[in-house]
Amino acid sequence: MADSTDGRTRTLPTLLSCCAALAATPARLLRPRRADTGFLAGLESAPLPPVRASVGLTVLVQGRMSAPTTVVAEGVRSLGHLPMAMAAYIVEHPSARFVVDPALCAQVHRRVLPGLPFPLPLLVAPDKPVLGLADALAARDIDPAALDFVLPTHLHWDHISGVLELPEAVPMRLPSAELSWALDGPHAPAGVVRGPLAGRSLDPLELDGPPVLTFARSRDLFGDGSVLLVDLAGHTPGSIGVLLATRDGRRVLLAGDSVWNRLQIELIREKAPMPGQLFDADRDKAFETIHRLHALPDGIEVVAAHDYDAVAALAAH
Ligand SMILES: [Zn+2]
Repeated sequence: MADSTDGRTRTLPTLLSCCAALAATPARLLRPRRADTGFLAGLESAPLPPVRASVGLTVLVQGRMSAPTTVVAEGVRSLGHLPMAMAAYIVEHPSARFVVDPALCAQVHRRVLPGLPFPLPLLVAPDKPVLGLADALAARDIDPAALDFVLPTHLHWDHISGVLELPEAVPMRLPSAELSWALDGPHAPAGVVRGPLAGRSLDPLELDGPPVLTFARSRDLFGDGSVLLVDLAGHTPGSIGVLLATRDGRRVLLAGDSVWNRLQIELIREKAPMPGQLFDADRDKAFETIHRLHALPDGIEVVAAHDYDAVAALAAH
């Protein structure tokens, strides 16, 4: 695949980035970055638009791995590990059926991970085997050709690799800022593999709607309040959250990788420099977004894409 060449040529700068991130980590495990109490105090919650429709939500858990608790939420005094999920979400709106985060294809270790520069594949590979998106859809009797579009929360490899198993006619919708960040430069940013995007129709959309809750920008995808896209920039420039009004009356925010675990929201903690410095495109903005998540009003169920317990609880609902 074309991107594996890119992966090899990026080995040296990636190794240097890893060394810098590793060197910065021990101090942060002892003294985590402090929350910005002034910013937090200034956050207000804007009203949600009225809800005139609701959606069905099905969780497809595709893979898992684990990571040390103290690097997922820096400074948490634990020698334990947190289980991490990789999952796709089928959303059924009255006028469209789509997949948020078409996460993994069955052969992701062979087809996609070689596109990441060394040593990143060693850090991020899910346990084998994974459940490919085509198999996950088949288990639910869903025809991939019947999907109207896919909507990744961002363009990291573990949120889009499943499109390799979808017909090319299924378009991908996402903010133009995310597209230009991932595709315009001479090399893919860390965490991005461009191969799965080849040949697919990429339909840009903008978060040009008003503030909702603690988020500065939004997009009411169907104009009925049932699927609101909110700005979670920081992890990547075009990271979005997908706030759903589900048929059973809940408000679920699929929060991508703005955090990896709810602990970060509760405690207002960054990921540790290793690996946050490698994968958060703008650390300051990512930390600001964590404050916004922390300040959400009650009643919003935040599900970070890799928070295994939160994803599993959503799947069991
Ligand atoms: Zn991810």
